[in-house]
Amino acid sequence: MSAVNTATVSYPDVLLFIDGQWREGTGQDGKPVSEPIINPATEEVIGTLAHASRADLDAALISAEGGFATWRHVAPHERYKLMRKAAEILRERAEEISTIMTMEQGKPLFEARVETLAAADIIDWFAEEARRIYGRVIAPRAAGVEQVVHKEPVGVVAAFTPWNFPINQAVRKISAALAAGCSIILKGPEETPASCAALVKAYEDAGLPKGVINLVFGVPSEISAYLIPHPIVRKITFTGSTVVGKQLAALAGAHMKRVTMELGGHAPAVVFEDADVDHAVKLLSGAKFRNAGQVCVSPTRFLVHEDIYARFVDGFTEAVQGVKVGNGLDADVRMGPLANSRRVEAMEALTADALAKGATLRTGGARLGNKGYFFQPTVLTDLSPDARILNEEPFGPVVPIQPFTSTEAVIAEANRLPYGLAAYAYTTSAKRADEFARRVESGMVSINHHGLALPETPFGGIKDSGYGSEGGIEAIEAYVNTKFVTQLGL
Ligand code: NAD
Repeated sequence: MSAVNTATVSYPDVLLFIDGQWREGTGQDGKPVSEPIINPATEEVIGTLAHASRADLDAALISAEGGFATWRHVAPHERYKLMRKAAEILRERAEEISTIMTMEQGKPLFEARVETLAAADIIDWFAEEARRIYGRVIAPRAAGVEQVVHKEPVGVVAAFTPWNFPINQAVRKISAALAAGCSIILKGPEETPASCAALVKAYEDAGLPKGVINLVFGVPSEISAYLIPHPIVRKITFTGSTVVGKQLAALAGAHMKRVTMELGGHAPAVVFEDADVDHAVKLLSGAKFRNAGQVCVSPTRFLVHEDIYARFVDGFTEAVQGVKVGNGLDADVRMGPLANSRRVEAMEALTADALAKGATLRTGGARLGNKGYFFQPTVLTDLSPDARILNEEPFGPVVPIQPFTSTEAVIAEANRLPYGLAAYAYTTSAKRADEFARRVESGMVSINHHGLALPETPFGGIKDSGYGSEGGIEAIEAYVNTKFVTQLGL
């Protein structure tokens, strides 16, 4: 990886990648259509993004069909080698790609770097898994019968990824699909497209055959409405809000397509009375403001035992006041702007609602400056149970802290919402940790540390947070069909 002067990195215009070529959208009446890309720290237009027309989507579908016909027959060992090469290319370009990501998404440069390098690790891990997709032989009930289970790639995948982790959300889908032998049409994030395109470019430069990845952008609802029912597409994978996820899952269901849904969450972060409070303050204040809280597994409902409540609130509020907010390209900034103006409006509305219902504002609570989508790291206490922030995913840097009195009460509160993505607990009691892990309704549980989202560990939710997994061996399962063959030897 070479050092890059962030001041000299220029943001690229972003094209579609269809059938191995980077190209403009053909648009209406043959005229290209594009949209501006905005730097959330400055609100300046930094580039343009090509939009796919119906004709472009048709071209991507035909290309992906051809790509699948080729790629499914590429030996897993060769897939492995090519994917490892893509990971190396990503590492070599990490500094430049991270800078571009910060320019379009806002997160601090060190977070963008972590995301880019983690993506290379994810590719490596799925590359290895390509060599370990095992079928099995089942003992027969009659002599001469052979019963075999094959794992076959699902086919052409349509993937939809959001703006909060422009590379991470895409790399999990692309790499699991490719490892399994599928081809993919990715509708990338329109607001943060260039780093996602750089990921696709790394695969292209590693020598991926044309058609195996196609990258499109445009009007999300139009693209999903066209791709999901299309007969060429066999599998849908979406990361985004629960509302949209339910719509897309319903459409996929109507066409009997396999689906993975990675949706919203509202993660309880429980601090029991026997916890190491300083440790909990340090880790939770770090985790909560990562990516300005725009993380599906962000700790969002802080539940603190009444015996240590005052100490926790004071310590946490002090830690939050030390979070430096600014342009993510500046070296000492810990929290950048929100990714778009919608999130600022949402933070203003959630905070105003909580205060109107009697909450106490411990720190923050307002937009910062008059340029860029900045919002102060905010802490609220004394919340009414019907405050919206206790019931809707905040997806931003606002923290509600509530006291609790008993394990029963806190587990009931943790399980109260329809979400079930991530859950956190702090305790020095092994018994309590075990009880929390068993009783909390959540796809992922992390105790005394924040250890989620590694390539080799399952990543996914239950209830309204979706289904399927985007990590671990479960992630490969989502891209393979099971075929059972029984044969009587004659
Ligand atoms: P949104 O619900 O409109 O969009 C969320 C994502 O879904 C975006 O990437 C968008 O392009 C895509 N999308 C929207 N409608 C679509 C459709 N019909 N077909 C295909 N894709 C579609 O809202 P938003 O303002 O972008 O984000 C707000 C909420 O989305 C957040 O509060 C959060 O709950 C959720 N979100 C979750 C994640 C996650 O990692 N799970 C990421 C981003 C946003």
